[in-house]
Amino acid sequence: MKNYDFKQVEKEMQNFWNENSIYSFDYESKNEIYSIDTPPPTVSGSLHIGHIFSYTQAEMIARFKRMQGYNVFYPFGFDDNGLPTERLVEKDEGIIAKNLPRSEFIKRCVVTSSKYEKEFKDLWQSLGFSVDWSLQYETINPMVQRISQKSFIRLLKDKKAYMKESPVLWCTECQTSIAQAELETIEKETTFNYVNFQVGEEKLLVATTRPELLYGCVCLFVNPKDDRYIKYIGKNATVPLYDYEIPVLADEKASIDKGSGVVMCATFGDSTDVEWYETHKLPYRKVILPDGTIGESVPLIGGLKVLAARKHIINLLSENGFLIDSENITHTVSVHERCGKEIEIIPSKQWYIDILTNKELFLKAADEINWYPQHMKNRYLLWVENLKWDWCISRQRYFGVPFPIWYCKNCGNVIIADEEMLPVNPIETKPGKICSCGCDEFVPETSVFDTWATSSVTPQINAKWDEENDISDMLLPMSLRTQAHEIIRTWAFYTIVKSLYHTGQIPWKDIMICGFVLAKKGEKISKSKSNSEFSPKLIIENHSADVIRYWAANSKLGSDTFFSIDELTIAKRFITKLWNASKFSISHLQDINLNAHVNLMPVDRWIIDRCTQTTMNARKFLDQYEIGPARHEIDDFFWKDLCDYYIEIVKERLYQPEIHGYEERQSAQYALYYCMLNILKLYAIYVPHITEYIYQEFFRKYENSISLHKLQWETEKSVDDEIIIFGEKLKDIITETRKYKSENALSMKTEIEEVVINTDDKFAELFKQTISDIKACCRAKNIKISVANHS
Ligand SMILES: [Zn+2]
Ligand SMILES: [Zn+2]
Repeated sequence: MKNYDFKQVEKEMQNFWNENSIYSFDYESKNEIYSIDTPPPTVSGSLHIGHIFSYTQAEMIARFKRMQGYNVFYPFGFDDNGLPTERLVEKDEGIIAKNLPRSEFIKRCVVTSSKYEKEFKDLWQSLGFSVDWSLQYETINPMVQRISQKSFIRLLKDKKAYMKESPVLWCTECQTSIAQAELETIEKETTFNYVNFQVGEEKLLVATTRPELLYGCVCLFVNPKDDRYIKYIGKNATVPLYDYEIPVLADEKASIDKGSGVVMCATFGDSTDVEWYETHKLPYRKVILPDGTIGESVPLIGGLKVLAARKHIINLLSENGFLIDSENITHTVSVHERCGKEIEIIPSKQWYIDILTNKELFLKAADEINWYPQHMKNRYLLWVENLKWDWCISRQRYFGVPFPIWYCKNCGNVIIADEEMLPVNPIETKPGKICSCGCDEFVPETSVFDTWATSSVTPQINAKWDEENDISDMLLPMSLRTQAHEIIRTWAFYTIVKSLYHTGQIPWKDIMICGFVLAKKGEKISKSKSNSEFSPKLIIENHSADVIRYWAANSKLGSDTFFSIDELTIAKRFITKLWNASKFSISHLQDINLNAHVNLMPVDRWIIDRCTQTTMNARKFLDQYEIGPARHEIDDFFWKDLCDYYIEIVKERLYQPEIHGYEERQSAQYALYYCMLNILKLYAIYVPHITEYIYQEFFRKYENSISLHKLQWETEKSVDDEIIIFGEKLKDIITETRKYKSENALSMKTEIEEVVINTDDKFAELFKQTISDIKACCRAKNIKISVANHS
């Protein structure tokens, strides 16, 4: 065997797998199906090391399950519509969506997303992902659009989707409504302003962080238990600068200790204002427009942006003697996760999916799903318990799945597309029927679905739900969902919602949640923060896919990990070691006869059983999706038992059969063949390229399989505990001898007089049969076995 050149070999192996469809899902197979609902990455820029970390872990599970005999369904998707893609196109091309004709902008989105999808796919392939690419989907493709629209229509007919005009979470940057799940909270510096309102002859001090909303002020609240203010309840207060009257009301949500204890309610400063607006039936006073400016009709600050308006109003309050104090504070604000802009609350007409009335159902579903790691379930439960808003699914954007509905021009009735028409874009197509009022003119809904409204049906997309080639019976519920923890509240939650609503069952049996990769302490690597020195493409080109994969299998599931290029050193050493050990073994296996009858020597029996034991232990971890601990188990066996001890012990037997015996050599050959082949099988899930290459170079001609990855792990064998203990004792003897030599400054090759082995009679016979091996390995002239007397 030549030297190992990963640049050539990895490409070669990928082509080999591809040409031979090694990873195809078999529709005809009788084997149990193992299906994976893998996250379709959003097309929003380049992939980073964090993606490699999490996707690789899931990929290893696909390989593992395949090698346990499952018929693995491992598809891949791209989430290519929605805001992330739009923002990418805007950034890449320096354009703004709303300045372009709708169709022109969508055209550019299609071009850009297919360009990135190709890059993404190339990257996954260069990592050796065992995806069945014939199962690929894109969330903007016609079939997916059809399933997504079908999902909406059925929810609408079940009264689980509805439209209403109400205050919604609004991003003034992206100019669209968003869902609670798309909020991120950040700490921000601001001022707490103490402003005097007039109540009769008295002044009432009100503390607010949003004085620009004074014109939107609809009442003041005090806590009914706050003795200082009880006398004001029911009276009217005059709004400073604007000079109109509002009532002073009582509500327990007004905090006694915060600010002055009097809080103004404006429409809308935050979600508490919305609650008050609804529970106290308050009027609406419009201040902020969807584009983030103050309405022209608002005196003093009309036309200004929010922050400029705030500054201006503070100056005016101060000049007119209303501002008593201004205190610098840090407070928590909600921002849009996609753009970082502070969220406003603005009333508008939007479509929702009812989730609040079925919280109990969603909480119960969590118990039916196996969460790995278990504690991630709490994040889900916490999120569901604290939900305050129904799921708003309409977005005032362009590149997304359209709502399959129109509104009657005459009576406003909602006209729903027939399912046979799907996918339909109501802007381009008419409903093909008339309204019950007799009118045949319609206004299309121009909003598009939230991207989660589509990605939440990935199990149905994979199963081709109610399509011609529907395989729901075969596939649902799926075996596994893999994902990152920050999208439990979105992707995991919404998928559970849709699955329960559509099929009445959970979407998948297991969910595996991966951690993040951090650049340095506490800092998440993500595309928005450019850690470009960690470009996956460069890392693969310079260090190989196997090396980065081996690194990715380092930690416990769900925990975050750190990355620096230095971290790859261990992986590189491993690749070299695996190559050298294989090369050595193969050089001694050229004349192996696998059909010959061999009487295995004790050391050979030991290493075979240790190999089996390792396989079973690794499987136990992998059944829990613990890729890291499983790898460590295999590493221990490979580095220590096999390389440090076993190969050292049998070297002489392999080299010199004329001294140590020909049958003895055959026994070593048999054990070495067994262990190397099984080591390759175990590592096949982690480093698929080098293992397949070694298999093809030598083992394939003896094994009845075209690819290493079609072989199965040997987990059905039993292990002889006694021989395992014997192996441990033998290792101790060798360690002692090595220690003795190094403490006495002797070379390991130095011959020593005698090694004395103290043992009880249980192991005496095994040691006796091993004398020649110990002699050779320890370079000892004589071995003395001293049997302890138990009686
Ligand atoms: Zn935004
Ligand atoms: Zn009508």
